[in-house]
Amino acid sequence: MPTLADVVDELESTYDPRWAESWDAVGLVCGDPAAPVRRILFAVDPVPVVAEEALAWGADLIVTHHPLYLRGTTSVAATTFKGRLVHTLIRNDIALFAAHTNADVADPGVSDALARAVGLTGPLTPLVPAADDPRRGLGRIGSPPAPVTLREFARQAARGLPATAGGLRIAGDPDREVRRVAVSGGAGDSLLGAARAAGVDVFLTADLRHHPASEFTEEPGGPALIDAAHWATEWPWLADAARRLASGLAAKGNTVETRVSETVTDAWTTTAECEDLK
Ligand SMILES: [Zn+2]
Repeated sequence: MPTLADVVDELESTYDPRWAESWDAVGLVCGDPAAPVRRILFAVDPVPVVAEEALAWGADLIVTHHPLYLRGTTSVAATTFKGRLVHTLIRNDIALFAAHTNADVADPGVSDALARAVGLTGPLTPLVPAADDPRRGLGRIGSPPAPVTLREFARQAARGLPATAGGLRIAGDPDREVRRVAVSGGAGDSLLGAARAAGVDVFLTADLRHHPASEFTEEPGGPALIDAAHWATEWPWLADAARRLASGLAAKGNTVETRVSETVTDAWTTTAECEDLK
């Protein structure tokens, strides 16, 4: 059985903390490096429902994509949900580790898993290659196995992603032909320009806002847009990260059990249409 330090070493060899953005807060949030780790739960968000799942399963470590304290803190008092979470974790010997923007730009990283989930096959290349290594970077560009309409591609993407309340929002002509696609897990506003410059037919991401999306689509020549739930675009990465960690540890003679949380922790939980149908 590996120690937490062994597991952290393995995670950081795949998702190097030096690749994280300067504003990010990645790595170990709580946990004793000397503690043994047998069960590891993977989840997108460090939220109470995930901690409860870890507790019920007997996990020793939770690996999340999103950091608990992105902007730092001066208190972990149990007066906020974050403080209570820290208390729950420490009281139950559960460590917490975050791999965020360092997992986004890894090869393979968050957007590789997203690209496969929405049906892109063949080679994938970064939408914005990292300066120090063009094999890594933000977003991915790839193609479906054969040209499809935007309508068909969106249907395929919806089938490939885990279900969320909001589903997918699409901006563009449904009959438009799709040959090349850019995807980026999480909030993708900042990559709109790169997607246009790449000359792709569709850009699939999350958290697109009205003004950037409206201005983008009014300007001719750009790709169609697909806006998915933030959680859904990052969730496919969890299984890949779990597999990589388990096999990396196994190569060093360490055995762990991994599990991917299937609890939907997207911020949006229902829509008016869904309510009407109930
Ligand atoms: Zn995210």
